[in-house]
This record gives sequence, structure tokens and C-alpha cells, in this order.
Amino acid sequence: MATKYGGYMGEALWMDLDQGTHRPFEISDRDRELFLGNKGLGTKIIWDHLKPGIDPLGEENLLVITTAPLTGTGAPCSSRFNVSCKSPLTGGVMSSNSGGTFGINLKRAGYDALVLAGKARQPIYIEITEDKIEIHDAADLWGLDTEETQAVLAKRHGKNIGQMVIGPAGENLVRFACIISGERAHGRGGVGAVMGSKMIKALVASGKKKIPIPNPEEYKKVIKEWIDLLKAHPATGGTLPAYGTLGMMGKANILSVLPTRNFQKGSYEFTDEIDGEALVKKHLKKNTGCLSCPIRCARVVEINGKEVKGPEYETVGMFGSNFGNRDLWKICEWNYLLDKMGLDTISAGSVIDFATELTEKGLLKSDLQWGDAARIAPLIEDIAHRRGLGNDLAEGAMRLSWKYGGEAFAIHSKGLELAAYEPRRSAGMGLGYATANRGGCHLNAGYMIYFENLGPVNVSPLSTLGKPQLAIFQQNAFDAISACGTCIFTSYAVLPGIASKVKPYGTMAKVLDITLRGSGGVLGMVLNLPAGMIPFHLPLIPHSKVIGTLTGMKMSLGEFLAAGDRVYNLERMFNIREGLVENRLPDRLTKEPQDPKNPATKVALGAMLPVYYKTRGWDSRGIPTVKKLKGLGLDFLLSALPDAKKTMPELQGAFHTRLVEIDGEQDVTIKNMIARNAAVKKPK
Ligand code: SF4
Repeated sequence: MATKYGGYMGEALWMDLDQGTHRPFEISDRDRELFLGNKGLGTKIIWDHLKPGIDPLGEENLLVITTAPLTGTGAPCSSRFNVSCKSPLTGGVMSSNSGGTFGINLKRAGYDALVLAGKARQPIYIEITEDKIEIHDAADLWGLDTEETQAVLAKRHGKNIGQMVIGPAGENLVRFACIISGERAHGRGGVGAVMGSKMIKALVASGKKKIPIPNPEEYKKVIKEWIDLLKAHPATGGTLPAYGTLGMMGKANILSVLPTRNFQKGSYEFTDEIDGEALVKKHLKKNTGCLSCPIRCARVVEINGKEVKGPEYETVGMFGSNFGNRDLWKICEWNYLLDKMGLDTISAGSVIDFATELTEKGLLKSDLQWGDAARIAPLIEDIAHRRGLGNDLAEGAMRLSWKYGGEAFAIHSKGLELAAYEPRRSAGMGLGYATANRGGCHLNAGYMIYFENLGPVNVSPLSTLGKPQLAIFQQNAFDAISACGTCIFTSYAVLPGIASKVKPYGTMAKVLDITLRGSGGVLGMVLNLPAGMIPFHLPLIPHSKVIGTLTGMKMSLGEFLAAGDRVYNLERMFNIREGLVENRLPDRLTKEPQDPKNPATKVALGAMLPVYYKTRGWDSRGIPTVKKLKGLGLDFLLSALPDAKKTMPELQGAFHTRLVEIDGEQDVTIKNMIARNAAVKKPK
């Protein structure tokens, strides 16, 4: 097996865990052209090999690890690699990427991708090098937290190996368990629970193989131009390195998009005690970043004399304003604990916030209270070990609402809890959350909040005009950026640096606002042009030029965006095949105005969805049309299109019935796993 394209190793592995065997796995060059890598190829693999309706925590699910052409090639932020599977939280498509240590090492060991099928009978970890693929007993690791596990494996295999590990949350099948790689997390959608269900505690990889770069001098040149652009840009060379993602919290608060007390409000009275400046002043030790990153948005704090990762904006939002808590130091400690337990910080925070409101309203008996920090650390451990109330919370906000009520204010989309952006003051963000294939993910949503509130220009946040088209552009661009193997934050440079000098609410800001909103029709047409009709590159979106130079593929801006559109449609078709068709948000966000005196402060989803569907080339139910799929070269999806006579409620109803059935089967699996894990004494 090989490939004619640069940036790829040309080999992939399929491991059958039941048998303990492995074999080469073919990825065609056609799939590389269509889906590039990372979430693109990962989604294609689960599309090809997963039967619809399977139990995500059962043996039939796959855990697919994919890299991308840029991974490990020295391009900015290019340590990104991806995990794909069917999500135990949503029942739909899941992809989760990180800038951890494993992806580069997997490539250097000689592989672009690794597919893990079936289930081991006992805890294992897998070692992959240039010379061997070995399954090791992990009985001595099972029960350890992610930090302890990585320390043992580094001692055993060398400190430069790449690792992916789960903590107690993954072992106990918590639906939002994550996978940790170095200090970075594949956070969302329960990928750690799928790894735990297969009894895989860890993966380690190392190697020295060279990644093929056919034209190294030219590649170095385009990479240097890109790094210079990122360093010179006020966002990627200024705000992000200085304050990290937390730098935008103050602005989020002023513009009422900072979720507060379970999204009841959009601003928090003690924001200045938990924002980016507060972290820099009180707790920051230094900046850090993923491998190969010139932006370095990550923070380092010191806990118990040890330098550890500091919290991101989303974590502070969920455990700060959204929990009514002003103690930033506690959030730093919880962030560290969440990573050690292997829990997604966004979902964990959100479900605690929801449970606190349930308690306040008398729907749940618990001792949770807004801002009461004393209960949180033990609760995080209880969630990870599925003990007491923690066992209920380990199911996520959607299932918690099925059990205790409060569906109107269980803040999720498709079962995935929303990240820390209040969409009632950001129409496009609300639309993005509702349509995102992963569910309540700000990135899969297209991160419209950057255009509407938090970036250098503010495209009227409450207006629906032009938002469907902008959201589609962003969603496609983000999927293309992910698929090529770099970080979404490289897209911050898409708005010229000069935009940051525009005076908020001044004349120029108004002109930009009107122009961007009014460009919806034109943008809609551009989005539907054949890729070949956009044959150029744009300096502020250098990704297409870089990918073309590295791989040798024909790659203009049009082709690059088409790849993103293709990935988005493939993800959508995965969900449709499962029956997960509905794009909705909880009533709090669509029916209750954030400001009772201003009825416009809610997400006008009904007004935006029809335009969104039409612009995407989907029918009125949100199903891609034959023309759309053929236009993207996705003819293999045509046979999976649902019966045109089936209504949305019929399709969604069947999905819900199957989800509840699977949950019933999983109750037994989860109980057995908890009992098994509790019986195993934690190794010293
Ligand atoms: S910008 Fe931040 S998240 Fe992205 S690669 Fe760099 S350090 Fe990692």
C-alpha cells in the first residue's frame, strides 16, 4: 500500500482486539483527495465500517485514530490528530482532535491511521513502533489517573513516546470521558468511554521515519510565510499568546454572551475575578502550546509545586460564571483534577450547572448550590467513578433531564452540552449550535461568535440576515482546516489585522456590519459554485496553498472549501443514517428572551433554518439532495438517503426509540464495568 501524495505515510493499521491481531488497512488515494485526513478520513472510515444502530459502548463500535497530511510536518499548529467513533453521548457522529503527542509519533512509526475494532477481554495497552505492534497487559495501569498512567508508560518506554490514555472516567464508561495525550485532550463526545469499553487503557507510539515532503524547499517557504502571518496578526500573535482563550471573557461578559448560572443570563457580576487578566495577574506561570505551535494559547499554572495546564475559556465559563463561582484558583485545581480523571471539562461543568438548577427548582435532591465550591472536587471524582449522584451526572445533561425533568433548560444540542457561549445574543452561533453535527460544539458550529461578538468586527449579533450563509462558510472552513491537520485558531487570521483597529460602533464598524450581513446572498452563491470556479488562494487563508504544496494535490481555495463541505455533508449523512436528523436547541434558548424586555434576545432558529437548508443544498427536512451529494462527488451516499415521504418527526422518533433501547442494554454493561472496576484494588 502506498500513496502518490506527499505528507502521508501511505500505511494504516486495523487491529482486531478480540483476536489480538492486526493487519494493513487500505486507504485509497481517492479518499485522501476527497477527505484529506483527520476528521475527514475518520468519518469516512466509520461510515464505511459501522452498521447503523449499533451500541456505541458495544464491541461493534470502532475507535478510529487518524492523522492528516500536515501532522508532524512543521506547519503551524500541526500536531493535530483525530479520534472518530459513534458517540455514547449523542448516538451520532463524533470526531475529537487534539494537539497531543501521539499523532506525530504514530506517523513516525509509519502509519497514517489506526482502527481499533472489537474488545479486549482484559485491560490492555498497545505499543506501536517502526518494528513492532504489541499488545501489553494493563492490569497494573487500570485504576490509575491519566497523569499516573503517562508517568508509568514514559518510564517504561521512554519520555519521548507519544501517548493516548484514559482515566477512571473512561474505565467507568462516563458518557463524556475524554482521552488525554500529553497535556492535551480529545475532549468531547465520550471518545474516552469508547476506549474504555474496549478495555484499552493506553496507546503508545514512537518512531523515526521521515514524513515524505516531495518539495521541501518550497514547503519550507510557504510554511515560513504562514508562521510570519500568524505572528504578525493581532489575534494569533497578540491576544491569544498574551491571555489565551480566557482573554475574551471580559468582552463576552460585556456583550452578554457569557453563560451565567446554567445559561439563565449572559453576564456575570464577578467576571473580573475569573477572566484572562485575573489569571495572568494571580496564577500564570508561563505560556505553553501544542507541538509546532507559534501561537501558544495554552496556560501553565502551579499546583502543589507542580507546573500543570491552566484552564481554557470554556472551562472557566462552565465552572465559573455558569456555576456562579468567582474562585479562579479553585477552577485551576478542578481543571487539573478533571484532566487526571479523564473528563471533558465542558460537559462535566455543564451537567453540574444543570444539576444545580434542578436542585434549586426542587426537581433533584442534592446539596449543590450556586457557587458552593466545597462540593465540586468530590463530585468530579464521584462522576469519574460513577458513585452516588455522580453516577446520574455521568450520563450527561440530556439523560439527566429525562430522569429528573427540566428538558427546557438542559443546555445541549443532540445530547452534547453547549460550550460557554450564550447564543441568545449571537444568532449565528445559535444556528451553528443547532446544526452542528457533533451537537453543542462551538467549533463544529462554525464559531460564529467570533464574527458576531468576540472578534474585531461585530456583525449585528441579533440579526438573522446573512447568518445562515456565514455559518455555512465557517462550518465548511473549520472542517477543512481540521481535516488538513492544523488548529482552528489559525483561522483567526482570516480577518485582516487592520480590522482590530476599527473603533467599535464607529462608522467603519457599521459599514463592515452592513456589508457582511448584506453579503449573504452573494456568499450563498459562492458557496454553491463548483470548486474549479474558485481557482486561486487567499493570503489570509494560506491552508489551501500549503496543502497543495505538501501533497501535490490540485488544491485551490475552492477545492479546499469543497473538502470541508464534503466532510460536513458526510457527517450529516452519518447522523441521518442513524436517524439523528433534528436540529434544535432547548426551549430556554429559543423561547425565553435573555432580556425579558427585548423579545429579540432569543435564538430565532425557525427563521434561519430554512435559509440554511436551502443554501446548503438540503431539502426542507435538512436532508442533502441528490444534486448536492453528486456535486461533491459523494455518490456513494445516495443509497443511504431516507425515504422522501418520511417526515422529520418520524425519522427522529425512530432514533429516540433506538437510543432508549440501547441505553437499556448499556445499563447492564455499565453496572458490570463499575462492579468490575470497584473490585480491582487500585495499584500502588
Ligand atoms: S493555538 Fe492553542 S490549541 Fe491551537 S495548536 Fe496552538 S496551543 Fe494548541
